Amino acid sequence: MAMDPRALWTMSYGMYLVTARAGSRANGQIANAVFQVTAEPPRVAIAINKANFTHDLIRDGGWFAFSVLAETVPMEFIGLFGFKSGRDVDKLAQATVREGLHVPLVVDHAVAVTEARVLQAVDAGTHTVFIGEAGAAEVLSAGAPLTYAGYHARNGKAPKNAPTYRGETEPAAPAPAAASTWTCGVCGYTYDPAEGDPAHGIAPGTRFEDLPDDWVCPVCGAPKDAFLSD
Ligand code: FE
Repeated sequence: MAMDPRALWTMSYGMYLVTARAGSRANGQIANAVFQVTAEPPRVAIAINKANFTHDLIRDGGWFAFSVLAETVPMEFIGLFGFKSGRDVDKLAQATVREGLHVPLVVDHAVAVTEARVLQAVDAGTHTVFIGEAGAAEVLSAGAPLTYAGYHARNGKAPKNAPTYRGETEPAAPAPAAASTWTCGVCGYTYDPAEGDPAHGIAPGTRFEDLPDDWVCPVCGAPKDAFLSD
């Protein structure tokens, strides 16, 4: 049997915001590889890229939390936590944070939060798999959780540090009839003039060239000049 990566792309995931703290440093990042390992006691596992700031905070702090993101979470929110580094921006300062047992919990757009103590850190190459025991968990809203497929359906991409990153072949949106799409050089979001950006007042049919100068990437917040014509 050959190795077809598309077989792995059919796998289902959720969308989570993982938070951690070590000393005075705290951060959060988007993760899709979060899952429950055992029910009794309740244990969970997460896969985090070793290059990520949050990785070191989990390793050094020994605890992590994750918020299950709601289906209604804005793309900008995912952009803030998924495509910017906590080394450059204080992401948590831009969110509603509640203090957990040991780490800050982000409650914006969250269906539920769980906080876990790290039991084991397994070296998996580019990523570390942290296995933790849930010390606290709470349902915050009755909304439906966002799935990874649902995120992709909204034109979302996996950043390079995601376990499920699909490489340069990733663009998931079907090619539009009009050729003049533009792609964000930071996160890979594609601006399609046929769709516009209605959430930010940009009507369908608006050419990229006609977007206001202060328009920014709806996913990661990068400025217009970070976009390249396709
Ligand atoms: Fe972007």
